[in-house]
Amino acid sequence: MPVTESHLVSSLPHGLFIDGGWRPASGHSTFDVDDPSTGEPIGVAVADGTADDARAALDAAVAAQPGWAATAPRERSQMLRRAFEGCLARADELALAMTLEMGKPLAESRGEVAYGAEFFRWFSEEAVRIDGRYTVAPGGDGRIIVTSRPVGPALLITPWNFPLAMLTRKIAAAAAAGCTMVCKPSELTPMTALVLFEVLVDAGFPAGVCNLVTTTDAPAVSAALLADERLRKVSFTGSTRVGKALFAAASDHLQRVSLELGGNAPFVVLADADVDAAVEGALAAKMRNGGEACTSANRFVVHRSVVDRFTDAFATAMAGLQLGRGTDEGVQVGPIIREADRAKIARLVDDAVDRGAQVVTGGSVVDRPGWCFEPTVLCDVPGGASILSTEIFGPVAPIVTVDDVDEAVAVANDTEAGLVAYLYTRDVDRAITVAERLEAGMVGINRGVVSNPAAPFGGIKSSGLGREGGAEGVEAYLETQYLGVALG
Ligand code: NAD
Repeated sequence: MPVTESHLVSSLPHGLFIDGGWRPASGHSTFDVDDPSTGEPIGVAVADGTADDARAALDAAVAAQPGWAATAPRERSQMLRRAFEGCLARADELALAMTLEMGKPLAESRGEVAYGAEFFRWFSEEAVRIDGRYTVAPGGDGRIIVTSRPVGPALLITPWNFPLAMLTRKIAAAAAAGCTMVCKPSELTPMTALVLFEVLVDAGFPAGVCNLVTTTDAPAVSAALLADERLRKVSFTGSTRVGKALFAAASDHLQRVSLELGGNAPFVVLADADVDAAVEGALAAKMRNGGEACTSANRFVVHRSVVDRFTDAFATAMAGLQLGRGTDEGVQVGPIIREADRAKIARLVDDAVDRGAQVVTGGSVVDRPGWCFEPTVLCDVPGGASILSTEIFGPVAPIVTVDDVDEAVAVANDTEAGLVAYLYTRDVDRAITVAERLEAGMVGINRGVVSNPAAPFGGIKSSGLGREGGAEGVEAYLETQYLGVALG
């Protein structure tokens, strides 16, 4: 039977999940969540956790840590595998929760369930592959054993734009490594986390391993945990501003820090690119998640010889996208998360136009309930426009024209961010040599989507520290230990 909105809302678990059970927040307060496609409250009562609740969650994580670290890797692997299957079994509920609270169309939410679930499958496979090394010391009189151990209880803080996958990417890696955790999802999208925690309970994770604290006071919750030296790790996905503050706060107890922060991805189309493929890739790179993705192409850097063809075809594709409420059939683009975020996008467009950019399609807010903004293409965007240096986080594509490869690379690298870049060229040599000059943790070559659970996701420069996914993902939750062995 299909899951209905009212059934989902009434069947959500109530409370924080701490030490293997659901409990109310210490002050018994709750908060509601808005549907961005209507601007109206959904009618849920999510527990509003406090600093005391966060400490209780950490107590549980600390108590569970030694037992969890000692679990056989195969056992952890099997729980993760059950979590993978559980996500797929509850795909309709997870997808509907995401669409209601975040706004993306149901088809995209289902895509996120598949993507988010894959982190459980990937890390179920990694859990049994954590290895070390054994070498003869150069002097011959001893042996060097290098092994690793879980870093310890971790605080996992996630944003609203991928309410499932940002959590599973952290939870799965931490659990595979043998770490216990306190999860703090965005206050804008807690419903998906609540359903996910039911999946984790069914998968059999022991009490205290995975704890969930929903709250409207993220600063108080994170400050309480970072002030506690028993917390050994913080993994954060979100804005660069908050990431930097957490990095500073973690310095008191030198908690290990992983940061997945904002991006400002260039999408480079060279003169020899397959323009049709570039347009298809541009649509994916720009419009995945309605443009509300850290990997979203933020600047289109296109060679003069192909810019007209690219612009026309891209604008036609953007203009054909259907906007609306994510639950409605055929809708391809949902609303922006909040009215204020939509207003920011409108200001960036206005600033670019004031400075001389041309609107090829779109350019305005949409007159309907909720916070929709038209899919927009701007061309001839001049260098000083704020839209080129600000993460747009919406369906707006500014195009900059360049005259050669060196200019393309210079424009692409002219940003503090360094998460991802996209590059279109038919020449293999050029693809590799230009990709190596791009200052980004990830480069999509002739493709508009790079996210893959088996690949190391992460940025350089202001886009963060560390990698999630791939073989690197589990390392973020491990400490190296060296055992020096004397012989004879
Ligand atoms: P945000 O920084 O406002 O919030 C992220 C999380 O941090 C939320 O859970 C929030 O409650 C919490 N938070 C806010 N203030 C805090 C504080 N003072 N201390 C501790 N926690 C705090 O970001 P957002 O608006 O939710 O997400 C959008 C941002 O996330 C964008 O910049 C985007 O690029 C980035 N993002 C990055 C990646 C990546 O992998 N690099 C992925 C998705 C989103």
